[in-house]
Amino acid sequence: MYYSFFEIFSIGVGPSSSHTVGPMRAAKRYLDNLHKAELFSRVAHVEITLYGSLALTGFGHGTVKAIIYGLMGLEAEAIDPEKPYVVAVEKDKILHLGQERPIAFDIGRDVVFEKETFLPEHSNGMRFKAFDADGGLLLEEVYFSVGGGTIARQDEISRRMEREPYDVPFDFGSAKELLEICERENKSIADIVMINECSLRSHDEVMQGIMKINRVMQNSIDRGMKSKGTLPGGLGVQRRAHEIYCRLEEKFRNNDYDPLLMIDWINLWGFAVAEENAAGGQIVTAPTMGSAGIIPSVMRYFERFASHKSLNSVEDGIVKFLLTASGICSLYRSNASISGAEVGCQGEVGVACSMAAGGLVAAMGGTPRQIENAAEIAMEHNLGLTCDPIAGLVQIPCIERNAMGAVKAVNSARISMKGDGTHFVPLDEVIKTMYDTGRDMNNKYKETSLGGLAVNVPNC
Ligand code: SF4
Repeated sequence: MYYSFFEIFSIGVGPSSSHTVGPMRAAKRYLDNLHKAELFSRVAHVEITLYGSLALTGFGHGTVKAIIYGLMGLEAEAIDPEKPYVVAVEKDKILHLGQERPIAFDIGRDVVFEKETFLPEHSNGMRFKAFDADGGLLLEEVYFSVGGGTIARQDEISRRMEREPYDVPFDFGSAKELLEICERENKSIADIVMINECSLRSHDEVMQGIMKINRVMQNSIDRGMKSKGTLPGGLGVQRRAHEIYCRLEEKFRNNDYDPLLMIDWINLWGFAVAEENAAGGQIVTAPTMGSAGIIPSVMRYFERFASHKSLNSVEDGIVKFLLTASGICSLYRSNASISGAEVGCQGEVGVACSMAAGGLVAAMGGTPRQIENAAEIAMEHNLGLTCDPIAGLVQIPCIERNAMGAVKAVNSARISMKGDGTHFVPLDEVIKTMYDTGRDMNNKYKETSLGGLAVNVPNC
């Protein structure tokens, strides 16, 4: 099934697409359904139950805050991270449902954490119930946050379908099919994705959307490089991007030559976005928020260090980069998962790395086969990567992992471009391997903070 560029890249607030953006969208959709069923005016009380990974790491990942945003009727793009929406709810114990209906809401009582219960459909489950003034149940719905901010209601996920397939000219379901289409049509992967996108909306809308995504990504790098201080959540993690930036600028001023300097810059840009995400800043899911630093960092690497060797201008290169990365992500979403709660960090940082590697080759003017090769190399060396965030916060190991993922993506692209795209392991098989590995992975390593670094590193 084809996934659109605008499903893959969306603007939201950190720190987690599956634990923040998805729950916010689920709560908002539930609110809309109360309106549609003409029940909204009778609601006197709401209760939310979080299951599995959402219950275990929801506090650190900002899930409760996100659900409150959604119940208030707020959209991710419109959130002002500076406004204390949740503080007011905590203090007054009043929630303004849909920003118009005040109801009593005590987070400690009305949000239930079912840490031991994993719903069979997906480990990121949440149940919404609304009651009238007499305690009568008005509406009950169960939603799942399936990765990258995408949600599915219980009746939709049982068909493993978040929506009906799009009617696009090239509905590729595997890398093999995609490469065959490129060869038959004599087009690049970016061309194929662009043709599909233009069948869903106008060319102008597509281009404006791509530019907006690029702008928000670049702004998140710039804000992250300027910001200092301690990240929220209680671990006391210090932001490092600003200090690294100052040191790199000083080296530049002093003509202090270092052949590996560009790695420091790639690390810096990955840190900057990942720290912005951890601080709840505005970020693009790429394909998730936990892994949101990799693609912007590699795009800036292209712009600053590689575009002069490309067949494309910087702007064309960026467009090709993003469209190609989107096409690669569509393969992962169709055939595997991009949810850390479902397949571990290989589905987040691994997929972002694979998208960035393929995107960079496209920006540099590589062939579809070289792109497929780069995407495959990048995932092959992320297989088995677990998700074990300390204290359930998207900080350790996540921030450094973005930097590592960005450097690995650049290396994968460079390896691939030394050849003609001929290679042993097809991308389709590595995607299947990632999914199989994720399904075999113990739940302790799937965004539950019950294993790995989360239990071996004291965080007092
Ligand atoms: S370890 Fe990876 S998958 Fe888990 S929260 Fe961090 S970035 Fe996301």
